Amino acid sequence: MKIRTGLGYDVHKLVEGRKLILGGVEVPHTLGLLGHSDADVLTHALMDALLGAIGAGDIGKLFPDSDPAYEGISSLKLLEEVMRRVKAAGYRVENADVVVIAQKPKLGPHFPKMKTILSSYLGCEESALNLKATTEEHLGFTGREEGIAAEAICLLIGDSPVLPGSEG
Ligand code: MG
Repeated sequence: MKIRTGLGYDVHKLVEGRKLILGGVEVPHTLGLLGHSDADVLTHALMDALLGAIGAGDIGKLFPDSDPAYEGISSLKLLEEVMRRVKAAGYRVENADVVVIAQKPKLGPHFPKMKTILSSYLGCEESALNLKATTEEHLGFTGREEGIAAEAICLLIGDSPVLPGSEG
C-alpha cells in the first residue's frame, strides 16, 4: 500500500457583479470571486492538493486560463477530471481537509451541502472531507474583504502502486 499527501493553496479577488461559488455551492453574498472559471477558490485548493499528491503539477498547468474552453466553467467539472487522473494513477482519497480564509460571509451553514457535493466527486465518505473557515481578524487582503483564500491538504491511498517511477 502506498500513501501520498498533497497541499493546495489558492486566492481569488472579490468583486461586485460575480456569484460567490464555494465548494460547488452558490453562497449568497454582495460580492463574488473573479476568475476565468467560476473562481471556486475552495475547490481549486482541493484540486491542487489532489494533483500534488499524484505528482501531476497543478490546475494552472492542467486547465490554463488562456484556454477559452475553461471560461466560466464549473470547477466541479474540473474536479471530475482531476479525480479521473487520481484514479488512473491508482489512488483513492482517504481524507482531505480544507480551510477557507474569508472575513465574510459566514460559511459554516453552507458546509454540509458542500461536503455532500464534493465528497461525491472525491468518492469518499462525507466524514472524510473536513471543511472549515477562519477570518484573519480584519488583517490583510482577506480581512479587508478584497479576496478569499483557501488551503487544502489530502491523503491518498494507493492499493496498487502504478505511479511510474514511484516504486521503492
Ligand atoms: Mg484558482
